[in-house]
Amino acid sequence: MNAPMNPRKLRITTTSLSGCFGCHMSFLDIDERLLELAALVEFDRSPITDIKHCSQHCDLALVEGGVCNAENVHVLRELRANAKILVAFGACAVNGGLPAQRNHLDVGQCLSQVYRTPDGSATAIPDDPELPLLLDKVYPVNEVVRVDYFLPGCPPSADTIWKFLTDLLTGRTPRIEHPLLKFD
Ligand code: SF4
Repeated sequence: MNAPMNPRKLRITTTSLSGCFGCHMSFLDIDERLLELAALVEFDRSPITDIKHCSQHCDLALVEGGVCNAENVHVLRELRANAKILVAFGACAVNGGLPAQRNHLDVGQCLSQVYRTPDGSATAIPDDPELPLLLDKVYPVNEVVRVDYFLPGCPPSADTIWKFLTDLLTGRTPRIEHPLLKFD
């Protein structure tokens, strides 16, 4: 990767909302290229750091997962408020992904089906106020905040992520073309 004109390390924040962490695992699959990346960027709030909230303004936010509960909304808004560029990272963030299959069902009925007393005779839905409430549906990220780029794939491949990041970090508009562009 050609070094960008500005030698300042770019700050990246990442999160998994209603995701499976598969997109983050695919990110780590760039393998030895992580060393090259580490020379150019530093991570702020992310599952791969111990930073609980964005510590300063970030250049880039990678958002994995759709928005399924109230906490997802808070986290997503924090990243949007603190990032210059926000990316819907992976199919779940782009369109809700497989978790959005619950959108065909009533959320109350889903909870009643899943949470039963041990003998199955009654419902036992967790009601601790610490737990975030589910939303009525699983929403794609762009229905909650403005999105700058959509990176599809379940997950996007490591090579796709690398192409996307290197385009951005070297000041090019990201272009993902066949065969790196996929939706499964
Ligand atoms: S897009 Fe696929 S890999 Fe990424 S969080 Fe969703 S289910 Fe997991």
